Amino acid sequence: MGRLDGRVALITGAARGQGQAEAERFVAEGARVMIADVLDDRGQAVAAALGDRAVYRHLDVTRADEWAAAVDDLVARWGVLDVLVNNAAIHRVATFADTDEASYRVTLDVNLVGPFLGMQAVVPLMRERGGSIINVSSANGLRGNGRAIAYTASKFGLRGLTKAAAIDLGPSGIRVNAIIPGTIRTEMIDYALDREPEIAAALPLRRIGEPTDIAAAAVWLASDDSAFVTGADIVVDGGYTA
Ligand code: NAD
Repeated sequence: MGRLDGRVALITGAARGQGQAEAERFVAEGARVMIADVLDDRGQAVAAALGDRAVYRHLDVTRADEWAAAVDDLVARWGVLDVLVNNAAIHRVATFADTDEASYRVTLDVNLVGPFLGMQAVVPLMRERGGSIINVSSANGLRGNGRAIAYTASKFGLRGLTKAAAIDLGPSGIRVNAIIPGTIRTEMIDYALDREPEIAAALPLRRIGEPTDIAAAAVWLASDDSAFVTGADIVVDGGYTA
C-alpha cells in the first residue's frame, strides 16, 4: 500500500529538479499527479514516463487564468484535489546593486505571487474535504543571502504567507506548511556545483542534498502522517541552518 493511495496532487515546476522527484515519488506512493510547468517538452516527457497516473499541463504560475484552467482540467479528470505543491521558482544571483525594480518584481511574481494564486485557485475545492498545501521556501527564507536579494525576500515572504494561511485555513481542514531545502543538486544551482566539495564540507552531514531528499519530506507533508502539522517550516538542509 502506498502512503498516498487515492490522493490527487498538483505540483508546479515539476518538469525537472525537485518537482520532478516529487512527481515520481508521489506516483510511486499511489497518487495521481498533475505536473505543471512552463517547460512543456520536459514536463510531457516526465509525465509520459510515469504512466496514466500522471499528466502534464502547461501552467505559468504567475497567471491566474492559467491556474483556473489547470484546476478545471484536473477536476474534470480526477474529481478532487488533495495536495498542492507550490514548488516552481526562479533564482538569480544578484546583490543589492545588481537588483533593479524589474528583476525584483519578476522574482516576487513567480516565487511569492505564484503560490498565492495557486492557493486561491485550490482552496475553494479543498474546503470541501480538506487538503495539504506545501510551499517550497528555502534556507534563504530563514537566513538571508546577500547575493540573492530578491530571492531571499521572496522566500521569507513565502514562509509568512504559509503561516498566515495555516492559521486562517486550519479550521477548514486545510494544512499549509513550508519545506525549507538547503543546497540541493538541481539545475537551479548549476552555477555553484563546481564548488560542491567545499559546500559539502561545510555542512554537518557532509553532502549536498538530492531532489529525492525533498520529495521524501513532501510525501510526509502530503500524507496523514503529518495530520497535526500546519504552519511549520520543515527544514531539509543537511544541518546548514543549525
Ligand atoms: P529548478 O530550477 O530545477 O526547478 C524549478 C522549476 O520551476 C523549473 O522546472 C522551472 O521551469 C519552473 N518554473 C519557473 N518559473 C515558472 C513559472 N512561472 N511557472 C511554472 N513553472 C515555473 O530548481 P529546483 O531546485 O528543483 O527548485 C525547486 C524549488 O526548490 C524552488 O522553489 C526553489 O526555489 C527551491 N530551492 C532550491 C534549492 C536548491 O539548492 N536547488 C535550495 C532551496 C530552495
